[in-house]
Amino acid sequence: EEEVKRFQAACEKAKKQLDNLYDKALANVGEEHAMIFEVHKLMLEDLDYLEDIEKMIQEDKINAEYAVQATADKFAAVFASMDSDYMRARATDVQDVSKRVIRVLAGIVEGGIDSEDPVIVLADDLTPSETVQMDKSKILAFVTQHGSSNSHTAILARSMNLPSLIQTQLSLEDDLDGHMAIVDSFHNQLIVDPDEATLATMQDALKKWRHELELLQELKGKENETTDGRKINVYANIGNSSDLQKVLDNDAGGIGLFRSEFIYLGSKDYPTEEEQFTAYRVVAEGMKGKKVIIRTLDIGADKQADYFKLAQEENPAMGFRAIRICLERPAVFKTQLRALYRASAFGNISIMFPMIISVQEVLDIKKIVEEVKAELRAENIPFSEDVELGIMIETPAAVMMSDELAKEVDFFSIGTNDLTQYTLAIDRQNQNLERFYDSHHPAVLRSIQKTIENGHKNGIWVGICGELGSDTTLTKEFIDMGIDELSVSPSAVLKVRKRIREI
Ligand code: PEP
Ligand code: MG
Repeated sequence: EEEVKRFQAACEKAKKQLDNLYDKALANVGEEHAMIFEVHKLMLEDLDYLEDIEKMIQEDKINAEYAVQATADKFAAVFASMDSDYMRARATDVQDVSKRVIRVLAGIVEGGIDSEDPVIVLADDLTPSETVQMDKSKILAFVTQHGSSNSHTAILARSMNLPSLIQTQLSLEDDLDGHMAIVDSFHNQLIVDPDEATLATMQDALKKWRHELELLQELKGKENETTDGRKINVYANIGNSSDLQKVLDNDAGGIGLFRSEFIYLGSKDYPTEEEQFTAYRVVAEGMKGKKVIIRTLDIGADKQADYFKLAQEENPAMGFRAIRICLERPAVFKTQLRALYRASAFGNISIMFPMIISVQEVLDIKKIVEEVKAELRAENIPFSEDVELGIMIETPAAVMMSDELAKEVDFFSIGTNDLTQYTLAIDRQNQNLERFYDSHHPAVLRSIQKTIENGHKNGIWVGICGELGSDTTLTKEFIDMGIDELSVSPSAVLKVRKRIREI
């Protein structure tokens, strides 16, 4: 009886989804195309279909999911054997609507958001791969009980320009579903069911903030130039080709960090060469000749994809990650390099390698790169001969070796998130250590200074692509050190430009 009830409830929920889809389709594509959702709903009201499923649950004592699928197969076979084209086409529909019911039964929600309207997502914590796979068009803000501001989930939220709160005291036991709430990430507060006065105050604050953003818009098309004429490149960090529009909207001079691993995190298996090629090509073409620096796979530590089958580790941040995986699994690395070089024929692509600790690694990488280029040449596949190769400086070893490393590469990009973590020996994911995780620590700033000096001494440019790049309290210091580029989340580009122009 319980199982039958569960099935009936799932049908009701599926019908509600179909009503919403019908309304949306009606508004967007007209009645003719919206009708399909009505047809699906009628199937869920068909007595033969419903009774078959319920009878199967009761007599065969099987679960609802199985009964729905078995009945769907039976009905689909009947439709498929009919003479009329129209009826034969219904075989797909009965499978389609049954899959919807099964998804509801199994609690599977498309894009991770069980709502037709945009919502605030509350969670205990969110991994980067969970965040990547969510349907962003339905998210207004993230609120989590755990998490750290330097985690990739927080970085992703920033790159999407979504407010997020971490380490909130909220109880997930409370049923907050459907309530109205305000996420005030400036003051780190979540206000559930605000009263009229609070709502008015917050709406005023929002208006003021939007006004400030509008003022920043006036800086579009202007140079990132200090009053005494020093120009800095201000680029944007992205995680996917879908972020491209935000880069263009914010007038970034290029892309300083494309975290390619998010393509891997968003997929259920290794992304193919073709899939990667398409993503890189779209970005390269979209940027119309402006520099696009794509970082090779930086998976491991907090960024896990099941299909890599990485072993559990005692110390994942110091473990098998990033370039170490690529050098150990050259087939995976080569697939990505082929895709990158193929895309280089369509724009201004540079390639950057993460987590470097030694000159030998760079030599090994360059050998593999040459192999890939030779393969492409042999296959007559076009690619650019001018792809710049750079490395991330995000380990103390790389800082110490920066003089030697600079002789082997075209540029350095300083990853201050990891550089802070490894310099201070503080896990960037550990929420209890936030007060000690200090990117302004003199050891970190001196490492940046040393990297810039050694880069310039050897004639290469040096940028910052970690979160510290958008910290405008340090912009002047970075310029004094001689920084050439700052790569920041798209929404921070104009803020950094404003600061540079004041200096
Ligand atoms: C960094 O470490 O600063 C960086 C830019 O890379 P990620 O945050 O992806 O580790
Ligand atoms: Mg890093």
